[in-house]
Amino acid sequence: MSDLFSYNILDNDVEHISELQILIVDDESSDLSYYSAILSGLCTISFATDSATAMSMCVSDNPPDLILCDVLMPDQTGFEFCQELKSQPFTKDIPVIFLSSLNALEDKLEGFSTGGIDYIVKPVPQGEIVQRITTHLNIILERKKLEFYSYRDAVTKVANRRIYEYVFTKEWQNCIRYEEMFSLIMLDIDKFKSYNTFYGHVAGDEVLMLVAQQLEQFGRRSNDLFARIGGEEFVLLLPTCQSEGASQIAQRMIEAVNMLSIPHSESPSKFLTISAGVATMLPEANIEQGCLFNFADNALFKAKQKGGNQICVSDHTRIPKSFITNGHVARERRTKQQGSTQRVGQRR
Ligand code: GH3
Ligand code: MG
Ligand code: MG
Repeated sequence: MSDLFSYNILDNDVEHISELQILIVDDESSDLSYYSAILSGLCTISFATDSATAMSMCVSDNPPDLILCDVLMPDQTGFEFCQELKSQPFTKDIPVIFLSSLNALEDKLEGFSTGGIDYIVKPVPQGEIVQRITTHLNIILERKKLEFYSYRDAVTKVANRRIYEYVFTKEWQNCIRYEEMFSLIMLDIDKFKSYNTFYGHVAGDEVLMLVAQQLEQFGRRSNDLFARIGGEEFVLLLPTCQSEGASQIAQRMIEAVNMLSIPHSESPSKFLTISAGVATMLPEANIEQGCLFNFADNALFKAKQKGGNQICVSDHTRIPKSFITNGHVARERRTKQQGSTQRVGQRR
């Protein structure tokens, strides 16, 4: 998995190449309009007449899936632009195809050595460029589909355990670095075994999906992550979120499931409900991240003991030794956990 993966990748549910986007970078406006017109039948085309504009489009929330890049441009050559793109974590995976009138072998080789995946010499017959770009778009589409399914849980379509573990580790490290609080909400459907027994597994799967989709919306910020981590267990990771904020979110999640009004004859309320365990702590280099999970899990257990359909907030006062990797936990940092601000400011 890419080291600097953006959680937005989880939104990339693409079924057809027409949903992809090509960015054409060329300082010649006549070439731009010619190739845009030819390729516009395949997918969305955006364009830029200089590399600086192209770069800003690549780091935007809606980056292109493929770049067609001229080589000779005034401010920066296409090769230099490609090199810069490949050196940036968030843009390095965008495929670049050079589209140039330079026909010498050394130009083509330079194009490939800077990271280009193909080199097309202008002028190129319409039929040929359409076929060649279609081939590339199909490969990109297949890659996106694989990415999508490898990050998603098959039943509920929300993030899976694999991505949860990756994000948890990454955000834990970030919170250590920026001395930010980290909250984790653990959620579990109440009496789901008896739901399956009464209504059947197919209905159970549908409910799992419905509940997951409803709860996923509570991971609102780009660094939040909602994931299915087990049978009917979910987690919402809330980096840079304090206890009060996390408790409010958890409470709203419980209410959101109540609002679904899913009949459950074996439930005390006669409707399907969930329980939530909330924990917040200040991550430290010598504390294992499993500690936060453990606090939330214990809180969830208490919420269940109290009858379910409610949240319980972890009231831990000390870090169990089993989660301390070396040395001791600095006392003054531990007390920072009692802070009451809901969310600490943005760090990136
Ligand atoms: P509690 O209120 O204490 O959480 O009880 P529970 O019955 O929800 O919990 P328990 O751990 O006893 O059972 C979980 C059930 O979740 C068991 C299994 O039938 C169901 N389950 C787990 N994964 C799936 C799934 O993918 N689909 C369906 N339909 N059911 C699942
Ligand atoms: Mg359960
Ligand atoms: Mg369970």
